Amino acid sequence: MSAQPVVVLVECEADGITLVSREAVTFARGLAGRLDDPPVHAVAVGPLPADEERVRDQLAELGVAALHHARDDRLSAYAAAAWAAAVVEVARGQDATALLAAGTPRGNEILAHVAIRLDTLMAANVVGIDETERQEVSGALTVTRQVLGGSALEEMRVDVPLAVLSVAGHALDPEPAPQRGAADVLAYAPSLDSDDLRAQVVRTEASGDADGADALTGARVVVGAGRGAGGPDGFADLLELVDLLGGALGVSRVVTSLGWRPHHEQVGQTGSRISPDLYVACGISGAIQHWAGCQGAKTILSINTDADAPMMTRSNYAVVGDLHEIVPAVNAELRRRLG
Ligand SMILES: Cc1cc2nc3c(=O)[nH]c(=O)nc-3n(C[C@H](O)[C@H](O)[C@H](O)COP(=O)(O)OP(=O)(O)OC[C@H]3O[C@@H](n4cnc5c(N)ncnc54)[C@H](O)[C@@H]3O)c2cc1C
Repeated sequence: MSAQPVVVLVECEADGITLVSREAVTFARGLAGRLDDPPVHAVAVGPLPADEERVRDQLAELGVAALHHARDDRLSAYAAAAWAAAVVEVARGQDATALLAAGTPRGNEILAHVAIRLDTLMAANVVGIDETERQEVSGALTVTRQVLGGSALEEMRVDVPLAVLSVAGHALDPEPAPQRGAADVLAYAPSLDSDDLRAQVVRTEASGDADGADALTGARVVVGAGRGAGGPDGFADLLELVDLLGGALGVSRVVTSLGWRPHHEQVGQTGSRISPDLYVACGISGAIQHWAGCQGAKTILSINTDADAPMMTRSNYAVVGDLHEIVPAVNAELRRRLG
């Protein structure tokens, strides 16, 4: 069994490890399983959430053997170069066999710095790995990754001794490991150069939309609404459907551009990526930029007056008709069934 771990940079939020970081750890475990089963280590930079035990527990459940925690007051505010320096120290110290992070803006930014410092290459937004090849050709692997805002996939050959990969969000679900890891916390003080701190966040102002966008990306049911809603007053029945299904409202860019609904509700390339169990797309044509955000839905039901709209032809279920007639009828039936 190799001691060279697969190392995953994990990002934290108030109550633990972020969902996409837990996905990345799960992905790393899959990668390790197809190599010679090296341990999976995590690295976290800056302050951990108040409930450190919860962080440990989450990582242990995911099979992580050790959490390297970079502690230094100068890392409290985000600085890509400094955070990368902290990750590189773990990668070098542990002689990592691969380095991963969630494909968030920060994850991608840090890994790009890391790849340059380690004189290697990075593949961003990976969703899969062909591991048969790695066993035959030392150091080379073929990855599948999302491009064009997630609307296309490409295969990429990465022929480097140390692969640096970011994992596209919601490419897989976080899965508990068959065997819990120890998740021992190994605190360290990385050596930081003053140059690493030349670009550092000094102030963050929440837009007020963050909670809404989180509710949308985490929803198990999303009711989508497009131009077919007809105007800012055309959402009452759709919002009732959201309530009845216990979901969230997601809209197309036309809807936000026209000011009918706020931007944090937008789904798509320039909005949120959603992966609900059910997406009910009402009056949405299904442009590629919208599809980029909703293609992760497990089941899609579309309601549209145009049977040939791309959203309809790509859906699992399609209802041809006026959403202003169909949605109230569905609501009435749901109300009846729910008592
Ligand atoms: C760089 C870039 C980024 C973009 N990012 C995004 C993004 O993140 N998200 C996004 O959504 N778009 C995005 N777009 C815009 C995208 O190209 C489309 O213009 C947009 O998605 C269309 O919105 P829509 O489906 O609501 O409107 P339309 O394309 O106008 O479609 C309206 C649909 O409603 C149907 N309809 C009309 N009336 C009714 C009715 N009464 N009942 C039922 N159906 C009805 C019509 O048949 C039609 O299919 C982006 C574009 C660019 C260039």
